[in-house]
Amino acid sequence: MTLDLKPLIRDLPTNELPEVVKTIGAPSYRSDQLTRWLYRDAVWDWPDMSNMPRKFLNNLAEGYDIRGLVLAERQVSRDGTRKFLFDLRDGHRIESVIIPMEKHATFCISSQVGCAMACSFCATARGGLVRNLSAGEIVEQVLMLAEDMQTEPMSDMGQRGYNIVFMGMGEPLDNMKAVEAAVTTMTDEDGLAMSSRRITISTSGHAFGLERLIASGISAGLTVSVNTCRPDLRRRLMPIPGRTPLPDILALAERYANDRHRRATIAYVLIEGVNDDDAEAAALGRLVANRPFKINLIPLNRIDDKQGAPSRERSLAFQAILKAKGVDTYLRASGGDDIAAACGQLREASDRKGRR
Ligand code: SAH
Repeated sequence: MTLDLKPLIRDLPTNELPEVVKTIGAPSYRSDQLTRWLYRDAVWDWPDMSNMPRKFLNNLAEGYDIRGLVLAERQVSRDGTRKFLFDLRDGHRIESVIIPMEKHATFCISSQVGCAMACSFCATARGGLVRNLSAGEIVEQVLMLAEDMQTEPMSDMGQRGYNIVFMGMGEPLDNMKAVEAAVTTMTDEDGLAMSSRRITISTSGHAFGLERLIASGISAGLTVSVNTCRPDLRRRLMPIPGRTPLPDILALAERYANDRHRRATIAYVLIEGVNDDDAEAAALGRLVANRPFKINLIPLNRIDDKQGAPSRERSLAFQAILKAKGVDTYLRASGGDDIAAACGQLREASDRKGRR
């Protein structure tokens, strides 16, 4: 399908809206009003901006669409995880997830339709990369999820705040321009006014992407998916990012952490009989100890019959080796697996139906 679409108004980082208003020839206070309608009131139709002149809105609508995402499906897991499937304007689909945490909700959002990284354990990898998401398509996921939390607050707590993690479909550092614009809108006071402490970018860790991140204006948290210290195995599990030697990746992550004054996280997916032995834990500990890192261990969420997660005992033993080296290491419980909303299970539902 050709992408003969207008840009979305939310593709523009908030700080570019005054220029748009100026070009139309409207008074500058209209840009504050417009920004409020887009992010505080989060309207989805031009006429809903009730205090705006019709002509001004028509002018905007000529150049921009106000909505790029339409909810196609919503599922709630028994543990409270909510999964959303969105239709994009060109017929492609993406998924986003709300994960209830103790004190807040985590919004897990997508940065691409599909992914080019080809990780063997990840469902998104299977269809390859279809296309990048635009900044507006990224930000709209957040607005839709926030709206859902308002409509249906999570039962055991009042209105919760949310964190954002780029851990849905796609490799965010392969779509830097849109990710940077989206993060600008998220952190801008006139946008979503979030602290960048509450935003995490997760990457499969290739050098090119990390170098661009370091050079960017982004100061969000960084998670690097490491998954093994053995070069041969890393290339097998993560064919594209595996081409950069892990020590180089960690040096870049360390530079980012020092520069932004916050520790980076190493994500390590535990796969039974593949990367879960004591020697791997010891090697990881040696690489990570005494550096600005912590580790999240994620037991593999099954996507086929070939590979599974290690036992709880094995995972705890792996964790203990790292802790003994003085590395902060957390063993993550994964939610939403009953609705295929857990890490690595996100995939376009149209494909998934074929598998059932
Ligand atoms: N491409 C980015 C972000 C998307 S993947 C990245 O690689 O970080 C987000 C996280 O989910 C990564 O840490 C990845 O290793 C993990 N993941 C992927 N498939 C998984 C699976 N089947 N089970 C558990 N975690 C998985």
